[in-house]
Amino acid sequence: MDARLEVIRDTVLARNPGEGEFHQAVTEVFESLGPVHDRHPEFLEGAVLERLCEPERQIIFRVPWVDDAGRVQINRGFRVEFNSALGPFKGGLRFHPSVNLGIVKFLGFEQIFKNALTGMPIGGGKGGSDFDPRGRSDAEIMRFCQSFMTELYRHIGEYTDVPAGDIGVGGREIGFLFGQYKRITNRYESGVLTGKGISWGGSLVRPEATGYGTVIFAAEMLKARGQSFDGQRVVVSGSGNVAINAIAKAQSLGATVVACSDSSGYVVDEAGIDVELLRQIKEVERGRLKEYAARRSAVDYVDGGSVWDLDATVALPCATQNELDGEAAARLVRNGLIAVAEGANMPSTREAVAVFQQAGTLFGPGKAANAGGVATSALEMQQNASRDSWSFAHTEDRLTEIMVGIHDRCAATAEEYGDPGNYVLGANIGGFVKVADAMLAQGLI
Ligand code: GLU
Repeated sequence: MDARLEVIRDTVLARNPGEGEFHQAVTEVFESLGPVHDRHPEFLEGAVLERLCEPERQIIFRVPWVDDAGRVQINRGFRVEFNSALGPFKGGLRFHPSVNLGIVKFLGFEQIFKNALTGMPIGGGKGGSDFDPRGRSDAEIMRFCQSFMTELYRHIGEYTDVPAGDIGVGGREIGFLFGQYKRITNRYESGVLTGKGISWGGSLVRPEATGYGTVIFAAEMLKARGQSFDGQRVVVSGSGNVAINAIAKAQSLGATVVACSDSSGYVVDEAGIDVELLRQIKEVERGRLKEYAARRSAVDYVDGGSVWDLDATVALPCATQNELDGEAAARLVRNGLIAVAEGANMPSTREAVAVFQQAGTLFGPGKAANAGGVATSALEMQQNASRDSWSFAHTEDRLTEIMVGIHDRCAATAEEYGDPGNYVLGANIGGFVKVADAMLAQGLI
């Protein structure tokens, strides 16, 4: 890392103790930014990096609710409004027991660059709660969401901060959150949340967008090397919204997706994952992946273990942070891996990224490869602002255009900075310069 940046990075780490994932995300970005500061001394003079690492506002609040047994439950809610240089704070809400301030800050920090790369007018933010939705009834989910919004509503708005979904937050939760926001504010403010239902202000393609976008990005990387998805053997981690739609898109391009996982284990289906069955089990029944193996022949279910023990030519990590480590990366590379695109946020450890880069494996970092979700959220905001709703085909065309644009911008930036094919460098520099220029233009705030 550039010595000038290392000093700033060390200060950031020291003043945010115990936030391992945030440290990791900051370090990874700083490692790319040395050459930018040679060309732009004004970024150092304006203390852009110091400002960028300090969120504009951080909100932590108590979320009290009553479960179906009549017991009082207390969770912690977060919203980190990281950077609004390019537009209102924008980013999802994650409901998962692992959520803490460090996790929300890592996600919010990544979101700044991701959102900048989309070319849409959106700043970066993230939020969530340590609430565990698993095994909760619809009524419990609703009571939790209503309590969460009873505090959050005062901090958000279509011109201020626009939350959406992430792990544990999908259409059902966005519905309950939107209802409570409307009830408290007495405003039908469609643009305050994205990921809404189609009949009440949502956008077609939003549910598919992250998974589709990840595969479109991977296809562009392959195309740049004269290859395609056709005939690839793909392994996907996760079986949530991102994973399911990545599987569907990869198979529509001629790949065979042989495996996906949940937190209990993974399935191996050499004939190619049956997406409709997977959707039925995960989205309709909210069941476990084990069910998939029970209902389809010639499928193995592996209890525990890692889906990265399987061989693949393309890997799409779509589960969660740090799920693919250096050892797994080295094994995948030895066994013929040619490309990785991250559908999740920071799923590869720093060691894994180093292995992929040394081996010359195509590697699309999450902040570029999974930007299709938030980009389509920005398209939802656009439709809300004009009280319009677009067709599936038009919205999908816009998504494709945006993903191809992100790919090309990352590739061109990597080339401009003398490291062609390094999408990590291209994404970090491409996103950063846009935000840094806007911050300087807007003065010291
Ligand atoms: N949570 C998603 C992400 O990681 C989507 C955010 C949004 O649509 O605002 O980018």
